Amino acid sequence: DISALNIVALEVDAASGARVLARAAGLPDVLFEHDGQITKREIRAVTLSSLAPTRRELLWDIGAGAGSVAIEWLLADTSMRAIAIEQNVERAARIRRNAAAFGVPGLEIIEGDAPAALDGLPPPDAIFVGGGAARPGLLDVAVAALKSGGRLVVNAVTLETETVLTARHLTDGGELIRIALTRADAVGGKTGWRPAMPVTQWVWIK
Ligand code: SAH
Repeated sequence: DISALNIVALEVDAASGARVLARAAGLPDVLFEHDGQITKREIRAVTLSSLAPTRRELLWDIGAGAGSVAIEWLLADTSMRAIAIEQNVERAARIRRNAAAFGVPGLEIIEGDAPAALDGLPPPDAIFVGGGAARPGLLDVAVAALKSGGRLVVNAVTLETETVLTARHLTDGGELIRIALTRADAVGGKTGWRPAMPVTQWVWIK
């Protein structure tokens, strides 16, 4: 039920009754159809900030999951372009539904495995890797494809992927951050801090 979300994400237009999306990135997870594989709201807000969308730019969203990052990129401005690359058939179909629901049907969806699926795509201004970063060659292909001045943003939740990112940070520089989110939640009849898995993010500018 999204009506409960009016205070955080949606304003109801008094005249038409239409719900209006908030302008800032980091929309509530429940607005997206997903199977649990979604970059959570707060992490997504930081991720969009790191991707730094400006008008007319093209994003590659590699391992796009529910498509939330590409969709929020497209919501920044009607001139934005994005390609979502997702290996899972069901998720690729879900990205299509989410894009339609958010009014960004121009999102291009490539169903396939990166890095092979990246062959022949137009060079991007920014790349987000939300899945597959530990695949051999994937980050090299991303770095090579990126336009000069483009941003590469990679999120890791596993130690295997984090190891790849710490090595890249040592050799290539950029910025490495760790986002540790803790939310107040019910513990018995009381309330306690429940930590989410920390996310390591590497940001590199070409
Ligand atoms: N950022 C997404 C969530 C990503 S979950 C969102 O907010 O909706 C990671 C996704 O990466 C999964 O759906 C997985 O199927 C996909 N993935 C992992 N490795 C991949 C690869 N090599 N090529 C394409 N997709 C990949």
